[in-house]
Amino acid sequence: MVGGVNDCVFCRIAAGQAPATKVYEDDTLCAFLDIRPIARGHTLVIPKRHASELADLDAEVGAHIFRAGHRLALAIRRSDLAADGAHLVLNDGTAAFQTVPHIHLHVIPRRHGDKLSMAAGLLLRRPRDPQTTAAAIRAGISALENEDETSAEKGSKG
Ligand code: 5GP
Ligand code: ZN
Repeated sequence: MVGGVNDCVFCRIAAGQAPATKVYEDDTLCAFLDIRPIARGHTLVIPKRHASELADLDAEVGAHIFRAGHRLALAIRRSDLAADGAHLVLNDGTAAFQTVPHIHLHVIPRRHGDKLSMAAGLLLRRPRDPQTTAAAIRAGISALENEDETSAEKGSKG
């Protein structure tokens, strides 16, 4: 295996041994704010178990990561960040500009009319108030969970 808890920064983040602003985690994956965000709320979803590239990634774990990215994109729409859309991007391998050799799915929020701020974000990549941003995303996740519970209750009554 290439890398591991000691020499991989994302393994250290997953193990709680390096700082990161986490927004979600379960037994298999964790999601945290990108340290150099392209847009406010730019989040990375990673497997807790090290995999460098798609070739090393268990397909079920990959599906779980995409499901989490899907949910995060919905949560960010419902959050105070009020996104209108998102890019879900995974750079597989250095040929595809992967710079951190621990696989990660980018969730990059988009808003209508944000072309200029996106262009600035691509150049500057500065974090803006990560704690408030993460709290907003966590609130969006809770809002989504409440919606799910409400529709499950309606389903069981109907
Ligand atoms: P890649 O080009 O490999 O798809 O993207 C790697 C991403 O990881 C970049 O967006 C970069 O800003 C982010 N990143 C690199 N090191 C760290 C780190 O130590 N902490 C966090 N939160 N993000 C990181
Ligand atoms: Zn790793």
